[in-house]
Amino acid sequence: MSIDTRCGVASPIPLAKAGFPPGRTPARLALLGLLALFGGSLLSPIQAAITVAKHQWNVPGVFIFTFDDAKPSHLVHAAPLLNQVGLKGSFYLTLIHIGDGAAGSAVVGQPNSSSWSGWKILADSGHEIGSHTLTHPKLTEVSPDQLDKELKESAAIIKEKLGITPITVAYPFNSRNAAVTKKMLETYIAAREFQVGYGAEAGYAATAAAMNKYVDDAIAGNKEQIGMIHGLNEPYAPLDPVPFLEHLKYCRKMVDEKRLWVATLGAWSKYRIGRDSVKITELPASQPRTFEFRATSPLNAALYDFPLTFVYKIPEAKADLVKVMRGTAPLNFRYDGDLLLIEALPGPESIKITWGPQSTGIAFRAPGTSRATGVILDKGWFLVSGQKVAEDRAKPYLGPVLRW
Ligand SMILES: [Zn+2]
Repeated sequence: MSIDTRCGVASPIPLAKAGFPPGRTPARLALLGLLALFGGSLLSPIQAAITVAKHQWNVPGVFIFTFDDAKPSHLVHAAPLLNQVGLKGSFYLTLIHIGDGAAGSAVVGQPNSSSWSGWKILADSGHEIGSHTLTHPKLTEVSPDQLDKELKESAAIIKEKLGITPITVAYPFNSRNAAVTKKMLETYIAAREFQVGYGAEAGYAATAAAMNKYVDDAIAGNKEQIGMIHGLNEPYAPLDPVPFLEHLKYCRKMVDEKRLWVATLGAWSKYRIGRDSVKITELPASQPRTFEFRATSPLNAALYDFPLTFVYKIPEAKADLVKVMRGTAPLNFRYDGDLLLIEALPGPESIKITWGPQSTGIAFRAPGTSRATGVILDKGWFLVSGQKVAEDRAKPYLGPVLRW
């Protein structure tokens, strides 16, 4: 690793103007940076490594809201409450409960029937629609033909009515076995395999405090949890919308504090399966302050289109001037303490992380910012946010000098 100090020695910029601390020249700063760099790496060698976060953006908890049985109150109460706090849920349709559906024609006019037009609006606002079968049987007790029909036909009808292909299932009565799971995977990517209940029913959460505890447990346990909800103010297990909204606001707060990911079952399943299938290859570094890797997956990229979060700890004290590129395309990233979190889909093209000044040992920080914003180049030129600019244009950005 080398640091080029040419610009420091040759810089025509008045030092005070460039924001250098009194008594410290660029060359001296660069030398100190060099010593710090080597000293640091000798004292605490860090093994460079990249991993995939257990959850999106490396947050500790995941919570998934699932709604069973195509209840009218899902359209009237649940979706508007979720929309109010900007969260998404997964709605599991039992097709006989849908009034104007082909499979539901027998129940048209029943007071508990919901309509396809309502589900279309809900789906268009970004909530997930999944299958809760055609007729709500215990799938472990039906014939193989019926099992096939309940799972495949329900998906086909949802596709025909709403124009979306459902990818997850909630089993009626949570009834399943190996044969049911095998059949499910012919049409879907995942099913709800565990849950906690909401509403007025023994063992379920009916108060905001009890509901919030589900979320607190997920965060404390660094794990995912799935909430199972039936009717809001209607049987079965009627859930009062007032504490539920209070609970949703708590979830929103946890999301904003980066402690929780409220996912749909589809999104979380894509992430989980994608995470467990990805193969990471670290590539030899082509230049200093660079880490390059390739992440590939055997999964169908058209279906597994949910980006993974890659976690990288830059092996230097400073994580400034970071760029993450795939070819010429910049990738989305954020910081989590001293970890760099990178959002990317697996693919054949490698991902390159660079940090620190790439052409000089001296970087600077714009006034009022917490990370380096530019690099001092040669002969009065500065690199500010990737643009080469002359001294007069660089002035507003010149602040404290950072040593490398
Ligand atoms: Zn059900």
